Amino acid sequence: MRICKDAKITGNIHSFETFGVHEGPGIRSIVFFQGCIGRCLYCQNPDTWEEGAGRTVSVQEIVDKIDRCLPYIVSSGGGVTLSGGEPLLQIGFLRQLLSACKNKQIHTAIDTSAFYRLSDELKLSGLLPLVDLFILDVKAVDKNLHQRLTSKTLEQVLRFITLLEDNKKQYWIRYVLVPEVNDSEQDLKELGELVRSLHYCCNFEFLAYHTLGKHKWKHLGLDYPLKNKRPAVLRDIKRAKQLGVFN
Ligand code: SF4
Repeated sequence: MRICKDAKITGNIHSFETFGVHEGPGIRSIVFFQGCIGRCLYCQNPDTWEEGAGRTVSVQEIVDKIDRCLPYIVSSGGGVTLSGGEPLLQIGFLRQLLSACKNKQIHTAIDTSAFYRLSDELKLSGLLPLVDLFILDVKAVDKNLHQRLTSKTLEQVLRFITLLEDNKKQYWIRYVLVPEVNDSEQDLKELGELVRSLHYCCNFEFLAYHTLGKHKWKHLGLDYPLKNKRPAVLRDIKRAKQLGVFN
């Protein structure tokens, strides 16, 4: 059965995962969108950067895949997470996919770095009623470091946080901790202050920087910028929690 009139609208995805457990509550289907305009120095998925590449799929095709996962999605209290790449770059496709999921009463989450196109900013509010949970990846809280680390402005991320707060939307914040890059005492104190000032951020977690995607840079003919930096280990996370005063 066709689930919405625009179910034929297409988008570009990198991949589809049927069984995710870290990107929102319960067991989740995860759609990794193709395309990102960030250029994070520690990106482990540079193969998701190129817009228009990947696989072209219709909303209906994705919904059919999700349907096959519904029994364990529903029984685990899970849902669907739209990740990337950057899902906010394909806003028309994203909206239709979210609508299709909501029509089926499926819990929806968007995993984003808030690296949307500025020309799309006014369209973001229209997505909010269709999203149960945002998972926002904050890369740095110092504006110069953020620009250096991601090529995008911190201001855009902060505006997105304001949009979520003003609309009383629940969201998580995740921070990839990169030793000697974004883990100075000052960085962590400011991060803690930011998170504590937010009303609708219902979960915060540090993710340990790793280098498992380093080979993808080489494969794409790119030089890995953080080759002299080590992965984060448990003691780095413990230190970060203490300095940022996170529980
Ligand atoms: S936002 Fe994500 S996908 Fe885009 S460059 Fe940064 S880490 Fe990579």
